[in-house]
Amino acid sequence: MATTKAAKKLTPPQKLKPAARKAAVEGIPAAKARAIAAKEPVSAKVKRGKTAKPLAPERIRAILDALQKTYPNVVCALTHHNAFELTIATILSAQTTDVGVNKATPELFRMYPTPNKLADAPLPELERIIKSTGFYRAKAKNIKGAAKVLVEKFGGKVPETIEELTELPGVARKTANVVLGSWFGIASGVVVDTHVGRLSRRLELTKQDDPVKVEQDLEKVIPQDHWIQFSHELIHHGRQVCIARKPRCVDCSLEKLCNSVDKTWSSH
Ligand code: SF4
Repeated sequence: MATTKAAKKLTPPQKLKPAARKAAVEGIPAAKARAIAAKEPVSAKVKRGKTAKPLAPERIRAILDALQKTYPNVVCALTHHNAFELTIATILSAQTTDVGVNKATPELFRMYPTPNKLADAPLPELERIIKSTGFYRAKAKNIKGAAKVLVEKFGGKVPETIEELTELPGVARKTANVVLGSWFGIASGVVVDTHVGRLSRRLELTKQDDPVKVEQDLEKVIPQDHWIQFSHELIHHGRQVCIARKPRCVDCSLEKLCNSVDKTWSSH
């Protein structure tokens, strides 16, 4: 044991991480040096495998080309006719399918077609209409609250910045990116839902689980003018081919570009 402790004390400075090395040189206690080292910048994290490795631009290009070829006309699957409807539909799409949301929204928007009307809607009535989308009590409060903020703060109009949109109840980065990208054509970020997260990990575009960190990794490697389309394409690919439990790798247009390929299962 004494040898181990001595060995730890005698770690040559050149083998320490930069922050720890600086602490050692300055005579800071070992525990504090470790704490400093834990806060090291991204370059240190890359070595520990927490951040995606740099990716060859030609591989990214090939993935984008293959997706574009497979899904040339892909659009947001939530039925909507304006920014208000898309915002509300996207809030309702949390933890459920777009198909489920599309069943509830026709009645919702027929009865409450504007932010003013939705802000005044009785909660029990909203809960009844959107019950099939799940978490309906919280979602009813959120869509009513979002309509109220739209009326009181934004003159009944959906704002066009991520900072303003995320002021609406029930709207986080993902929802804001959907609205900005799909309605306004603003590439504010990559939409990271469960499909985009899973596919990005399988394609080794990220190693992260947290959606915000996945988004940050994707935005480093995907050119900004592809962000909107790339999100739609990955969402469709995740629903139709690279499904969660058993990806249909033999039917996948990305098969040659993917190291997670699994040929033990197919739809045929
Ligand atoms: S090859 Fe398989 S794991 Fe890779 S993206 Fe295609 S379906 Fe998903």
